Amino acid sequence: MQWRDQSETLTLPKQEVLLAHLAAADSARLNDMDNTSPRVLIAAGCMSTMREDVDQSREERGGLLLGRAYGGGGETQVVVAERSIASRAFSSTGVSLRMESEIWDLARPLLVDGTIVVGWYHSHPDLGAFFSDTDRATQRSFFRNPFSLGLVIDPVRNELSAFLGPDSTHIPPENVMVTEGP
Ligand SMILES: [Zn+2]
Repeated sequence: MQWRDQSETLTLPKQEVLLAHLAAADSARLNDMDNTSPRVLIAAGCMSTMREDVDQSREERGGLLLGRAYGGGGETQVVVAERSIASRAFSSTGVSLRMESEIWDLARPLLVDGTIVVGWYHSHPDLGAFFSDTDRATQRSFFRNPFSLGLVIDPVRNELSAFLGPDSTHIPPENVMVTEGP
């Protein structure tokens, strides 16, 4: 399918809502992070389904990230990737992003209770977990909300990097954590 712009204006729930749902250990770690810049949380289950997808191939793979974003004063404070949906077909050129249309049939029933498409992930097998110019263009074209998250994984070198918003701002690794709870 041809990806269409998903940008929407959302009032993000406050971070306190998230803290109430996190396991104690996770919220302690979140509180230890630098809260002057956005933080990215990846649920353990989301991480394992992404790894299952990208570990199986030396070709580039990718898919959608579903979850929630929290903020205040118009700023994104925390983005939580709660689950990933692997696309069987994946290619991104910056001006086009292709995933099979069935991925929406999988995503749609999950978009309830405030769950949104928070972003996308893809793999760079043995190339390093960086955002290429193409990836930046894809992010700007198709994931242009301030909370839009782009994850890139190098399954060979075991690297992961996170980028946020239309300008693909790099999130420092100390502000990215895999939660222990769901
Ligand atoms: Zn890439």
